[in-house]
Amino acid sequence: MPPLVRVDDLRKTYRSGAVACEALKGISMRIADGELVTVMGHSGSGKSTLLHLIGGLDCPTSGSVEIGSHALHTMNEAALARFRRGNIGFVFQFFNLIDNLTVRANVELPALLSNGRSRSALRERSETLLKRLGIADQAEKHPWQLSGGQQQRVAIARALINQPTLLLVDEPTGNLDSASSETVLEILDACHSEGQTVLMVTHDPRAAARGQRVLFLHDGRIVGQTEGG
Ligand code: ADP
Ligand code: MG
Repeated sequence: MPPLVRVDDLRKTYRSGAVACEALKGISMRIADGELVTVMGHSGSGKSTLLHLIGGLDCPTSGSVEIGSHALHTMNEAALARFRRGNIGFVFQFFNLIDNLTVRANVELPALLSNGRSRSALRERSETLLKRLGIADQAEKHPWQLSGGQQQRVAIARALINQPTLLLVDEPTGNLDSASSETVLEILDACHSEGQTVLMVTHDPRAAARGQRVLFLHDGRIVGQTEGG
């Protein structure tokens, strides 16, 4: 079977007026189905850009991203939106939760938008996820009433609600204390153990070490990787 994620010579240049920023300078990588891969790099190395391109949130300047049978670089905005809803779970660095919705409603929102499931099946799935992530007792609260670690767990539950092919995680420990970081990393480990394919980007060596394989990103290029995979 070909690898689930196939990225070839991926480049991204941001332009504002006459100023160009080459954020990615030719990235090629593979992720096998069920693998947990981490990308480590300092701030500004291109981690979020890479994640956004693999998740179809933004388009590359050149190069290709293929996930399963989907060639993202050939898709228009509407096709990408459909693709994301069906295939990608995204955990953003700053959680991006909606403060005037309850925790439960935040988690269920992506499923309502893709409306494939009955309300009762959805409620059952969100309940299962909230329990698994240890936040079932927070379900009727609002995100602003929760700690950072709890908010990150809500964001992970929301990313998992549509059973994504690929879970993309941006700096999950960047804004958390070490105990909350550990809990979140254990949750990601558990997802991986259950077969979830995960790509996590981070500047935190402890988080990166959770990968079966660690790719090192420096100024928009992969400059090395650990053995394995
Ligand atoms: P990281 O997530 O590793 O901190 P980013 O992918 O956010 O790195 O950024 C990589 C480079 O691209 C940085 O130099 C950053 O300033 C630049 N960059 C990121 N997003 C934009 C944007 N929307 N417009 C212009 N430059 C950007
Ligand atoms: Mg970033």
